[in-house]
Amino acid sequence: MKKLEEYVKSIPDFPEKGIIFRDVTSVLQDAEGLHLAIDQMQEKLEGVDFDVVLGPESRGFIFGVPIAYNMHKAFVPVRKKGKLPRATISQTYDLEYGTATIEIHKDAIQPGQKVVIIDDLIATGGTTEAIIKMVEELGGEVVKIVFLMELAGLKGRERLSGYDIDSAIIYE
Ligand code: 5GP
Repeated sequence: MKKLEEYVKSIPDFPEKGIIFRDVTSVLQDAEGLHLAIDQMQEKLEGVDFDVVLGPESRGFIFGVPIAYNMHKAFVPVRKKGKLPRATISQTYDLEYGTATIEIHKDAIQPGQKVVIIDDLIATGGTTEAIIKMVEELGGEVVKIVFLMELAGLKGRERLSGYDIDSAIIYE
């Protein structure tokens, strides 16, 4: 049987020269790959006491919703600015070129709720750091962060030190 990491296609020089892009669609388009990905991410949450899964648009939805559903928890979408219809809070963070703003609904997390963040990949940790700030602004507690893939060389884990982070696949 193929291992999870064997389903990830690595694309050199995408989206620009010098970057090796880890393509999640190659995992999703194989029934066994999709199963392994969800199962191995969900295993990281065994024994974790939590209320809500947060997943950022758009690949965080793909993994966040099935895990929330399987574990009978709520799911909160983190969206790009301007997409959510009710009152929101937002965070703006730096990208390689320019900035990005993400939002969640103000009533999406209640004070004291325990939150798990799920995304496909951690690179610098900037996206996750912005999500953590929103959770904490609403009085939630981030108890665990799970990724399918981690680009360890970009030191996202150090940026998020103090938080419990787990990844199904780690690229050194
Ligand atoms: P960070 O904020 O940690 O620097 O970047 C993480 C975000 O960039 C994730 O939401 C992820 O979807 C996207 N990303 C960066 N590099 C890659 C990559 O090689 N493959 C995939 N699938 N996503 C990437």
